[in-house]
Amino acid sequence: MIDILRDLYNLPPIEIKKLAGYDNVNYLVTTSNNIFIFKTYTYDKDLFDLVVAESELLDHLSKSNDNHYPKPIKTKNGEWTIIIDFDRRRTIIRLLSYLEGDFLAEVKHSPTLVKAFGVFLANTDLQLQGFNHYTIRARRYVWDIQHLDLIEPFIQDISEPHNRSIVEYFIQQYSEVVLPRLYELRKSIIHNDANDWNVLVNNGQITGLIDFGDVVYAPLVQEIAVAITYVIMGKKDPLQWAGYLLNGYHHHFELETMEIDLLYYFIAARLCISVCNSAHSKKLDPKNEYISISEEPAWELLNVWLSINPVKAKNKFRTAVGNPVEQADPVEKKIEKRHQFISPIVTLSYNKPIYMDRAAFQYMYDVYGNTYLDAYNNIPHVGHSHPKVVEAGQKQMAILNTNTRYVYDLLDEYAERLLSKFPSKLNKVFFVNSGSAASDLAIRLARHHTMHDNIMVMEHGYHGHTIAGIEVSDYKFSKKRGPGQKPWILKTPIPDTYRGKYKGEDAGQKYASEAMDLLHNFGKPVAAFIAEPIVGCGGQVPLAPGYLQHLYGAIRAQGAVCISDEVQTGFGRLGDYFWGFEAQGVIPDIVILGKPMGNGHPMGAVVTTDEIAQAFEEGVEFFSSFGGNPVSCAIGLAVLDVIEEERLQHHALEVGNHYKHLMNELKQDFSNVGDVRGSGLFLGFEIIDENGKEHTSLAGHIKNELRNRNILVSTDGPFDNVLKSKPPLCFTEADAEMVVENIYEILKIQ
Ligand code: PMP
Repeated sequence: MIDILRDLYNLPPIEIKKLAGYDNVNYLVTTSNNIFIFKTYTYDKDLFDLVVAESELLDHLSKSNDNHYPKPIKTKNGEWTIIIDFDRRRTIIRLLSYLEGDFLAEVKHSPTLVKAFGVFLANTDLQLQGFNHYTIRARRYVWDIQHLDLIEPFIQDISEPHNRSIVEYFIQQYSEVVLPRLYELRKSIIHNDANDWNVLVNNGQITGLIDFGDVVYAPLVQEIAVAITYVIMGKKDPLQWAGYLLNGYHHHFELETMEIDLLYYFIAARLCISVCNSAHSKKLDPKNEYISISEEPAWELLNVWLSINPVKAKNKFRTAVGNPVEQADPVEKKIEKRHQFISPIVTLSYNKPIYMDRAAFQYMYDVYGNTYLDAYNNIPHVGHSHPKVVEAGQKQMAILNTNTRYVYDLLDEYAERLLSKFPSKLNKVFFVNSGSAASDLAIRLARHHTMHDNIMVMEHGYHGHTIAGIEVSDYKFSKKRGPGQKPWILKTPIPDTYRGKYKGEDAGQKYASEAMDLLHNFGKPVAAFIAEPIVGCGGQVPLAPGYLQHLYGAIRAQGAVCISDEVQTGFGRLGDYFWGFEAQGVIPDIVILGKPMGNGHPMGAVVTTDEIAQAFEEGVEFFSSFGGNPVSCAIGLAVLDVIEEERLQHHALEVGNHYKHLMNELKQDFSNVGDVRGSGLFLGFEIIDENGKEHTSLAGHIKNELRNRNILVSTDGPFDNVLKSKPPLCFTEADAEMVVENIYEILKIQ
């Protein structure tokens, strides 16, 4: 190398040191009076053109400022970039001036310094406005956010499935929010990698920007997005720090409102590119530490980013540049409008209802910029807006959405997959589009099969809002304003081991005997017994162990069928079991499915045996306009895929156990926590007063206080004194800790 430097550049080197590089090899060359960077690249025609372009760009920058950017040094023959044989390989080489200084990554950041960085970057971009190069314009590059699709093949290299989903979520958001506006954004040649290892600091001043290898012709806002991404890594208040940088930039090179408003998504996209490239490079070269230098902080920031409401980010960025923020209508005004068209019998949650905008995984975002930790909603089972589910629905909706009177692959594909989750005797499925429709149909099936009408139901049970649904739901028909119990309904006491009369090990058997006596005394044959394995509306009450095992036999002995309502308990939420009936060691004759089945897409189903289905076939044709349509089937399949890929049943078990453990600890400190029950991520916390009585107002207070602290739970049970927590299954242990800490604080000051 000494010869090359001497022959080509007239350089007498004293010292040559190899430097770490991302995908090329650089050397630090020290002579008696100067320092240079000698860059070498394995030859490639396109790369050569690009390096030539980069040298021209550096020359352009050096014309307006002498020492803020590396200067290309010409060979004796007047060339900036040449091809030689080096280390027996065709190699592109060039020599650059060396810039002194510390990296921004290594110095303590202050608001002033970060703002100065913004100013510096704005000046760089202003100078680049006067530069054009068609090689750069034509570049399609994996680190260029506008070509986000280029990293998609690398997503599979991310080892943790939930992390893959987070990346897919942000890519989907970028497609939804940014792509439609991409062509309205002004474009420019930009550095595109102003990360803090490429920025130099001397005596508290930003003095240099190096490594123009990522230069692209792209939306200008990408420049600031990349810079922000790295500056805010590891910072406690990332939006505040982003604001300093933006402020500095904007006052030297004014950003347009649309650019500022899209920044949240550009930053997320850059993080996605970073983690995908790290994962891919790690796969190719597991030992290269330089490659994954920012991998951990990037993942950390991506998770923090998910917890930030995009509206909050937008408004913070607008404020940072002195633009007015967007104000949504007050919630009271929205409620007034709603009540013009929607009856107030369709109630709202919380003393202060929430005006929602969007949601992601375990977070919900309101229109005012607040983020809520969702510890409550069980319908978005695998997470709000889960990208796999969204994509499945979007794709299929664009291909075919029809009904079961036609033959299509997705119906039997989904039916087979769903039924594979059941014991083999449950081998027929009817698709509908709600839990209520499923309950209704289940009752019809039972009546057809048995030729009887009477139904045995459980105290406090809820199965749906149709006429038949209400008739079998004590939770509705026994309410003050409810229609009352029909003569064909037999109600059995809830086998509650906390409040009920039987508590010991044999409680299940005793409750079952009592139910059998009631059945006997009823004096009329019943068609079915319907119950949930954990009575949700009853206050998250798990049936006493052994209850169904003792009861199912007696029910069947008198010719009736057993219906398990798994609308809330199904699909792995309970942790130990995929279906709630498994916890009781029984196999029902009919199973009702709903809520989590489509992750929010309206889906319901009735699963049953051949025999019961055959009896139903004797009656009129069954048809549901929407049940089993291809879009629903595609979504249902995606939900099952995610449950398996992300091992959500196991995750529910682990997080649920931790959550329960924390709540049991809290119970030791506060006598108001009377009972902690449920399993997996299906939990109930019973709130009581000093006499052990149901403390409805305190439960309501905790619920509303948690809401005021941006945590969502709800209350239920006949006295509405049971806090219920059934979060999306991507809920984490840290999320559980946050809920419990907040309940602790609320109880401490009440
Ligand atoms: N069964 C149970 C156990 C439920 O919790 C519900 C809904 N809360 C239903 C049935 C009715 O489902 P949907 O609201 O989808 O009609």
